Amino acid sequence: MGSPLPNDRSLPVAILGAGLTGLAAARHLALAGRRVVVFDASPAPGGVIRSERHPEGWLIESGPNSLQETPPVAALVRELGLEPVRQVADPAAKNRYVLRDGAPRPLPLSPPAFFRSGLFSRRTKYRVVREYFRRREPRLHDLPLADFFREHFGQELLDYALDPFVSGIFAGDPARLSSRHAFPSLWKAEHEHGSLVRAQIKNARARRERGEPPGPPPIISFADGLATLPRALADSLPPGSLRLGASVTQISPSRAGWILDASPAERFSHLLLALPAPALARLEIGSPGAQTSLASLDHLEHPPVCSLFLGYRREDVAHPLDGLGLLFPSVEKRPLLGVLFNSTLFPARAPAGHVALTVMLGGARNGELARHPLDYQLPLVRRELVQVLGVRGEPVFVRRTLWPRAIPQYLLNHDEHLHVIRAAEERNPGLHIGGPVRDGIGLPACLAAGERLAQAALA
Ligand SMILES: Cc1cc2nc3c(=O)[nH]c(=O)nc-3n(C[C@H](O)[C@H](O)[C@H](O)COP(=O)(O)OP(=O)(O)OC[C@H]3O[C@@H](n4cnc5c(N)ncnc54)[C@H](O)[C@@H]3O)c2cc1C
Repeated sequence: MGSPLPNDRSLPVAILGAGLTGLAAARHLALAGRRVVVFDASPAPGGVIRSERHPEGWLIESGPNSLQETPPVAALVRELGLEPVRQVADPAAKNRYVLRDGAPRPLPLSPPAFFRSGLFSRRTKYRVVREYFRRREPRLHDLPLADFFREHFGQELLDYALDPFVSGIFAGDPARLSSRHAFPSLWKAEHEHGSLVRAQIKNARARRERGEPPGPPPIISFADGLATLPRALADSLPPGSLRLGASVTQISPSRAGWILDASPAERFSHLLLALPAPALARLEIGSPGAQTSLASLDHLEHPPVCSLFLGYRREDVAHPLDGLGLLFPSVEKRPLLGVLFNSTLFPARAPAGHVALTVMLGGARNGELARHPLDYQLPLVRRELVQVLGVRGEPVFVRRTLWPRAIPQYLLNHDEHLHVIRAAEERNPGLHIGGPVRDGIGLPACLAAGERLAQAALA
């Protein structure tokens, strides 16, 4: 056995995983004129993106709920012809609530709003001003995100801004996440400018000069939910490119190309692995005596998360729900991670006269709670919602989804996982690995990871 022939362009490229990462890779390759075959164990493309329209009118997102429309996302939506079904977050969802002293308080979203806000003390506001003058000093070692952020802005901003934000994105614990890997943009900003505030001001100025709109990219979805995007990506591939219900467990290089157990008669020039860490860990790569193991990736932590989609009669919820949702900082010591106001965010998420909420439970903070059955979770959730949102009645619709291994946590040992991934690639020419295991967890990062994988196969 020798190395395969990665540059034999007559052979197709195999991609494992038809989530957003694998499909994005497939699209780039197909547009570049390469033949691709995407294998996925599930019966439908999209991976963790799962949208379902219930006959009563609920639109349930069991996985991700929305997507930041960065410029590459906007371009893809246009290219796929999805503009007519694209939905932008409703202006009514302008607030981001955090719980403080048991009550939802809007997070200030602009510098003037921050200095006017009663959410933060004068001392914290002074810390932010002082941070502007922070000097650039080389930082030699990675450190927990909480320590990094506290150094810049103090404990209060860590507790009521960063901590809930990290819960909302990673379902993670800032005391354990790596600053360098979990938030590379903050790490880079500190490296380049010393002050994160100064970096933010400079970035905003640069964006203005490039003619880009101010503020973060819009939040979007589609009329039938986020699954529209992977479906459209899958439909854009040449016929026969997608093999669903095809789980791959063994992959072996040969002089004639890569061979997969799901399709032993075919040979592939390259193998792109767009799989989550637990699936990578189970793969058998190579021939007997020359095996590559990714088994250690099974130790990459993915705390369980439970998503509870709850439908209520509008009159049974006192809160105006004029926001994207409500996040629960860990210092508040409540059992929930957050509540998303789905029916405020996008239209047609609930039947007329009703509202839809998604409650997130578990994560690094309280993984056990995610695993409890519904009849344990529901009374507890109901008690919380009565207190924080003035919910009166029972939900008229409930859908529970447990993600036993939800989101990879980039902890302080993340370099060890990256090393294992790079070593596997170096040992196996033509093998490339990408997606949330190494490239970032948000959907825009998955699209970028797919493009990077495709470029690697085209190089
Ligand atoms: C509950 C939850 C909420 C989230 N919310 C958001 C959000 O609101 N916004 C946001 O931007 N991001 C969010 N994310 C993150 C984002 O959804 C994911 O990072 C992204 O969808 C991952 O896409 P992927 O293609 O890399 O992997 P996946 O979607 O995991 O796809 C991998 C695919 O590989 C297949 N597979 C596995 N093993 C094999 C095998 N052996 N052979 C063949 N196929 C295999 C699986 O069936 C799956 O289809 C959320 C994630 C979760 C879990």
